[in-house]
Amino acid sequence: MIRSFPFRLLSIALLLCVIQEDLFGRGAFHPKFAMTISEYHEMVETLPFEVQARIIRDPGHFLDLTAAVLESDILLVRHIDRSNGLSPDYTPNDLVRLREVAPDVPVYASDDRLIESAANALLALVRSAADDGIHLAVSSGFRDYPTQEDVYADHITRFGFRSTVQLVAPPGHSEHQLGTTVDFYPVGRRFNDSPQDRWLNEHAGRYGFSMSYPPDLEHITGYLHESWHYRYLGLPAIHLRDRFFGGVQFHLTEFFHRHGDFLQQVLRQ
Ligand SMILES: [Zn+2]
Repeated sequence: MIRSFPFRLLSIALLLCVIQEDLFGRGAFHPKFAMTISEYHEMVETLPFEVQARIIRDPGHFLDLTAAVLESDILLVRHIDRSNGLSPDYTPNDLVRLREVAPDVPVYASDDRLIESAANALLALVRSAADDGIHLAVSSGFRDYPTQEDVYADHITRFGFRSTVQLVAPPGHSEHQLGTTVDFYPVGRRFNDSPQDRWLNEHAGRYGFSMSYPPDLEHITGYLHESWHYRYLGLPAIHLRDRFFGGVQFHLTEFFHRHGDFLQQVLRQ
């Protein structure tokens, strides 16, 4: 029987795990997690094949970075898409006003709030861009549920339902409700390939920000490319996204959506 390449990789990974289990004791093949090998494999096999292949080559590093995300702020990687949303009354509890904590960031939104860690990271990002001669401004930050209802209804009135479905999140399904997400100015195709777009593409990750809707991933994210829409994930999640998830935020947040509760249960404090 000819064994496929992925099967052989899986066999090698199993062997490595057994060796590691001998080192750390049964049920603890990674020092940060009290999970069994079969629990680990059940978790990894739910991921896209290309992500599995990266993890299989370096499972210890994968779990190191996963632990770092869990130990920082799990809310930062909350999975939001068309199927998974937030309740109408969900409001983050540490919102701060950008005009107060980051007065040198131009904000054109009436609601200028973000959670504190995202606001601080945004300030550092905007200052760094300015040092490079790139001027960034914010079109939109936190949006509560009723505001997203207005945005959605207004878009339908102006552009019709079909365009709205491709571009605008329904109420309760917007990353803006997390208080971690900004739209940079100007929103829309004008932003594509602008100096601001190019700068953010190269540097946003260094400040913990992630482009949620990259080009050519509409079939995964459910949204057309939005070059202006960035979500703060924090640096640990950015490292994990880039090292193992092919830079795709959706795969990363979906992983924590499926396995975050289990991982928190088995994480050793
Ligand atoms: Zn947005």
